[in-house]
Amino acid sequence: MSSYRPEIVAAFRERKVRCTPQRYVILDYLKRSPKHPTAEEIYKAINRNDPRASLATVYKSLHAMALAGLIREVTVDGAAVRFESHMDKHHHFVCERCGRVEDIDWFEVPALENRNRLGHRKLREYEVLMRGLCSNCN
Ligand SMILES: [Zn+2]
Ligand SMILES: [Zn+2]
Repeated sequence: MSSYRPEIVAAFRERKVRCTPQRYVILDYLKRSPKHPTAEEIYKAINRNDPRASLATVYKSLHAMALAGLIREVTVDGAAVRFESHMDKHHHFVCERCGRVEDIDWFEVPALENRNRLGHRKLREYEVLMRGLCSNCN
């Protein structure tokens, strides 16, 4: 049984989202998986335990959970949308050799904090997308 169970059940309750067995399995998988999987990777992983899931229902579950703020989409340009359950602010580092997407602890970007460069635009949020070679590849 998952050690994340109380946390997962509480998250669904708090966000007032129905915790279906499939949504539970998806969130459990995202909490265990350190990378940022695509919908297809999630589908393949959970299908090992629940062969009834279809890719379409996995997409629907992911969409509903992202809307409710249980998970979020990570867009790394040019590639399929990825998902994560890490909801605290953080930046991303993409390895150009192996494609791994890593979390980088949050730090403010001073130019954005000071808003000098934004003019009259209203900033809601931002994150830095870094590219390079991960520690395994360099
Ligand atoms: Zn790498
Ligand atoms: Zn992340």
